[in-house]
Amino acid sequence: MIYLDYSATTPVDSRVVEAMTPFFNASFGNPSSVHRFGQIAEASIDSSRESVARVLHCKPDEIIFTSCGSESDNLAIRGAAYAMRERTGANWILASRAEHPAVTKTLEHLGKYDGFLIEWLDVNEHGMVTPEIVAKAICDNTAIVSVMYANNEIGTINPIKEIAEICRVNKILFHTDAVQAAAYLPLDVNELGVDMMSLGAHKFYGPKGVGALYVRKGTPLVPHLTGGGQEFNLRAGTQNVPYIVGFAEALRLTEDEREQRAAHIQPLRDKIIGTVLETIPDSQLTGDLESRLPHHASFAFKGIDGNLLLTLLDAAGFACSSGSACKTGNPEPSEVMNAIGLSREWGLGSLRVTLGKDTLPDHIESFLSALPNLVKKARHLK
Ligand SMILES: *Cc1c(COP(=O)(O)O)cnc(C)c1O
Repeated sequence: MIYLDYSATTPVDSRVVEAMTPFFNASFGNPSSVHRFGQIAEASIDSSRESVARVLHCKPDEIIFTSCGSESDNLAIRGAAYAMRERTGANWILASRAEHPAVTKTLEHLGKYDGFLIEWLDVNEHGMVTPEIVAKAICDNTAIVSVMYANNEIGTINPIKEIAEICRVNKILFHTDAVQAAAYLPLDVNELGVDMMSLGAHKFYGPKGVGALYVRKGTPLVPHLTGGGQEFNLRAGTQNVPYIVGFAEALRLTEDEREQRAAHIQPLRDKIIGTVLETIPDSQLTGDLESRLPHHASFAFKGIDGNLLLTLLDAAGFACSSGSACKTGNPEPSEVMNAIGLSREWGLGSLRVTLGKDTLPDHIESFLSALPNLVKKARHLK
C-alpha cells in the first residue's frame, strides 16, 4: 500500500516518539503541581514553548497549546470575536469561502447563535484570496479577517503578508489557519504580520490531538475553555505534556529540514501534475500552479465520482483523497470546488495526491502507471 495522503495526516517521526516517551511514565507530573514532579513537567512545557517560539520568531508567552488545529481556529475566531465586540462594538467577520470547516463552521455558529455578521470573501479560479478582495470588503465594523495560509484541498498559498498589512493599517485583527502550510512554508509571524496563527502537529510528523495558537501580544482574546489558569488563562485544562513535547520536537525538525524535504518532494509532485494532465483526457489541475504547496497535487476529472475513484485506487494499493478527509462519503462537491467555480460535473470528480518526506520516485511511477486506467474505469462504472 502506497500512502499519498499526507495532507490528511502524517506518521509520527520516530525522533518525535522518542522525545515524547519519558513524559508518559517517568516524568508524569501535573505541570501545575508545586512539587518536583510538577516542576519537571512544567519545565518541559516551558522549553517546548520556547522551542516553538524560536520557529515562529515570537515570545514564548504568545504561544497557547491546544488539543488540535480545529481548537486553535475556534479559540482564535471565537475568542477575538467576543473580545472585539466588547471592546469596540465591531461585529463583522470576513473569511474566505475556501476555509477549512474548523473556520467556516465556527463562523456559521457565531452568526447563528451570537449575532455576528459573517461575510464570505470570494476566491479567484485558483482558490486564492487576493489582497484586492480583502481591501474592498473591509469596513468600519470589521472586527476580524480570517484567511488560510495554504488550502488543504487544492494546495493554493494565499498572499498572507499583503492581506495582513491591509488589516494592520485598518486596525482589524488578522487570523490565519496555517495548519496545512506549516510543514512547508516559513512561519515567522513578524515577517507574515499576522495577529493569530493556528497550527496542528499531525500535519508535520507530530502526534494527532495537539495544536497551538500564536496570539500576538496585545490581541484581545476571551477564552472558550474555562476552568484552571493554564495557558495564561486562555485555555483551561491540565496540559498534555507528552504531546506538547512532541509538537515542539516535530516543529523543530520540520524547520530544520523544511528545505531539504521540499527539494525532494517538489520534483515528484511536478511529475504527477505534468503526467496526469498529459495522459488523462478531461482532466484539470485544481488550485494555483505557481503559488502552491510543494507536496500537493490536486485534480478534477470530468464526469466521474471522486469517491468511486478513491475506492478503486485503494483496491489497487494507493491511499489518496478527494479533498478534505472530513468530506469523504459526502456526495456533493466540496465548498472549495464550488468556490473555484467548478460545475457539478467536474467538482464531483476531485482527486488529491499529497506526498511526504518518505515518498519515493518508485511510488510515483507505479501511481502514474495505474491512474489512467482507474480513471477510465471510474468513468465507465458511473
Ligand atoms: C487539518 C486541518 C485543520 C484541522 O486540524 P486538526 O488538528 O485535525 O483539528 C484545520 N485547518 C486546515 C487547513 C487543516 O488542513
